[in-house]
Amino acid sequence: MSELAYPYEAPASQALFDRAAAVTPGGVNSPVRAFRAVGGTPRFMVSGSGPYLTDADGREYVDLVCSWGPMILGHAHPEVVAAVQEAVARGTSFGTPAEGEVALAEAMVERVAPLEEVRLVSSGTEATMSAIRLARGFTQRTKVIKFAGCYHGHVDSLLAAAGSGVATFALPDTPGVTGAQASDTIVLPYNDLDAVHAAFAAHPGEIACVITEASPGNMGVVPPLPGFNQGLKDACAANGALFVSDEVMTGFRTSRAGWYGVEGVVPDLMTFGKVMGGGFPAAAFGGRADVMAHLAPAGPVYQAGTLSGNPVATAAGLAQLRLLDDAAYAKVNAVSEQIQGLVTETLSKEGVAHTLQTASNMFSVFFTDGPVRDYEDAKAQESFRYTAFFHALLANGVYLPPSSFESWFVSTAHDERAVQRIADALPAAARAAAEATA
Ligand code: PLP
Repeated sequence: MSELAYPYEAPASQALFDRAAAVTPGGVNSPVRAFRAVGGTPRFMVSGSGPYLTDADGREYVDLVCSWGPMILGHAHPEVVAAVQEAVARGTSFGTPAEGEVALAEAMVERVAPLEEVRLVSSGTEATMSAIRLARGFTQRTKVIKFAGCYHGHVDSLLAAAGSGVATFALPDTPGVTGAQASDTIVLPYNDLDAVHAAFAAHPGEIACVITEASPGNMGVVPPLPGFNQGLKDACAANGALFVSDEVMTGFRTSRAGWYGVEGVVPDLMTFGKVMGGGFPAAAFGGRADVMAHLAPAGPVYQAGTLSGNPVATAAGLAQLRLLDDAAYAKVNAVSEQIQGLVTETLSKEGVAHTLQTASNMFSVFFTDGPVRDYEDAKAQESFRYTAFFHALLANGVYLPPSSFESWFVSTAHDERAVQRIADALPAAARAAAEATA
């Protein structure tokens, strides 16, 4: 693709990107932000308000990324900002227990029935890494089953056939992960229970846990087929393994009780991040009290963190959770459906083959005749159409994920004006997708 394919220059962002590249690998602190999958200049944002982001060149975008999920109330929600200001004025970190972390844990446990106890950490990666360690410590087994296209953060043993940024760059694995780490990970196709049963049969007494995204969003949105998660739970129970449901993305987003609230399958352990931190680095893992009792200092499995349960992060997360009542979820779901309808109607009008998949208010568009049930299906999409679609929307003030292997996210702040801006931008984007060539 030539430079001319990107309809708008972004000189201030480009200047910042050049500065960044001199001091940071690839100019970014998380790979997908570099726009490598779609090309062009990553937009450096200077502010966010409600459903909008404003970049360094002063251009405003309707945000359909929402910081990859956390900003479910939109940017700079006044009550979240006030809670943060109040907390920050009392000190930013104590290194001692504090009430805020108790209150956040209580709010989480109250919402998610299988979450009997919870430990706060600082990132989703830390949450899944710790949950795996605990599962291994509890079962005294080594092997872990994960699914191709599911991303659980950059945990060494889970960076095999991961989705998200790893999918974007088509890296089947990554240098730096040793053979020993990878060899304890069994990677299976998503939505394939037969493969799970076969793996348990092939490794009797060896599998500590099955970890899955509760409803995957890191290969695009690929929800579990009916019975898949229950089948995983049953297979784990029958074989003495733990069922670990990764709700970092879906937790407190897809419903008041996350994907558990949608489907009702009871995991042994769960992981959280994103929404529960209100835009700050906060995450968690938890579940069965008898399993959590194995965690230090109650038990022998070590886990710790200098900034775990940080008072500012917990204040933001708690403020956000308190605002997320039934009406808020109804609003996010409704606006999500409205945007889904606009996207599919406009693409259909231009005759673009596509499949729109949803998991509650999470959704994404695959440029392929569907359905997309696993990572192989997701990789078969015509990603070059997404690139054209993405840039046409960006040029007209709509910010989509800069990769076709990601979920789109909306918020309670996406109002009629924001939806109209998307509706106005879509026809040109659909035409660009129709005309795109590989
Ligand atoms: N698990 C899932 C399902 C995720 O989507 C992510 C991040 O996108 C993670 C884990 C890792 O979280 P973090 O980026 O906070 O380390």
